[in-house]
Amino acid sequence: MSSGQFVKKSEAPFRIIGKAKTSSWGKVGRESRISAIVPGHAPEACLAEYWLGAHDSMPSEVLIDAETRGPLNAFLKGNAVELLGSVAAERYSSELPFLLKVLSINEAHGLSIQAHPDAVRAKRLHALDSKNYPDARHKPEIGLPLSPVTLLYGFKPIGDLREVLNRLPMLGALFGGASFELAGRDLYRTVFSSLFALGPERTASLVAEIARETKHGKGEGLETEVFHRLREQYGDEDPGLIALFIMNVITIEPGRGIFIPANLPHAYLAGDLVECMACSDNVVRGGLTPKYKDVSTLLEMVTYDPVRPQPILPIRDAEGFLVFPTPCSEFEVGYVPAGRHVFNVSTDGGARLLMSLGAATVVTNLATGRSVSLSDGDGALLPIDTGLYEVRTHDAAVYRASIGRE
Ligand SMILES: [Zn+2]
Repeated sequence: MSSGQFVKKSEAPFRIIGKAKTSSWGKVGRESRISAIVPGHAPEACLAEYWLGAHDSMPSEVLIDAETRGPLNAFLKGNAVELLGSVAAERYSSELPFLLKVLSINEAHGLSIQAHPDAVRAKRLHALDSKNYPDARHKPEIGLPLSPVTLLYGFKPIGDLREVLNRLPMLGALFGGASFELAGRDLYRTVFSSLFALGPERTASLVAEIARETKHGKGEGLETEVFHRLREQYGDEDPGLIALFIMNVITIEPGRGIFIPANLPHAYLAGDLVECMACSDNVVRGGLTPKYKDVSTLLEMVTYDPVRPQPILPIRDAEGFLVFPTPCSEFEVGYVPAGRHVFNVSTDGGARLLMSLGAATVVTNLATGRSVSLSDGDGALLPIDTGLYEVRTHDAAVYRASIGRE
């Protein structure tokens, strides 16, 4: 049977095996959470990401039976109505609308300062530049920390910004003629734009001034600590080193979620996490990266309203999963923490993708008795309307992604 051919729901659950991706910001070798999921990499490999899903640029593999395996995107295309149901198959063009990832971030690097386009802009960017914007979809995302995760998240509230300016008066250079009377988004637009207009020399002298004014080392506050750490990596000419003083620098603990809507400037800087997102790879970058930057698009699109970050607390649903509510129609994500569990999953509400993090989870279709055994990082695809499954875990946490509710 080829991966695109018709399948019967009774053959489910289907075991899914994701793929790893290296990137300069990934943790090295065994330090990385990904090394346990996809072993066999060189000890010096920067294992940054693991993808479980059907994005065309790195589709997971589906094991259809003992002899047959193939890419998940083709399998879904060939069986979309059977697997996703007719409504979702039509709405999402026979594709899986969400993607699960595990990220393992080296604190010396961090990810770039970035934002993801909304649906309208994503279409436009992809039409203009399909090399840098590989699909036409938006990419709202939620991060679920596996260890404490440090990130930059939107612009600081005005009181916090005043406080930084008192501490580091040299940042006044970014305000130009703008005063705090401007408040709101006009002030943040002025400051963020003048930061990217500084040019390498003036950026470097401002970074050097901040470095002289602040102490290097632990106990100096998260913001200062991050500044000195990233300065060693990126040198003085990267505007991201200054941007972090006008953004929120926060740490989110396991058990919470952090939702990143379209156009919100952000950067994950350290830690391990699971991410669930709309199935897109569109990133507009502005700093803290050697990759392609598109500063003019970033300045045009970002949300200049200041924000106070609100981690999301999960709600337990009828299946016993802790679900993180978001406004996204493409996905809903929840998890069951590691421990001994047996629980039942119903697919009446739509197809589900499970991901097991830890050892040996067994997923059994209760109608047919068919089961699959999942190793660390493996997924199980449960088609729509096949009824009850039993999920038996020992020391694994099980994540569950499904199509969101309107
Ligand atoms: Zn992002």
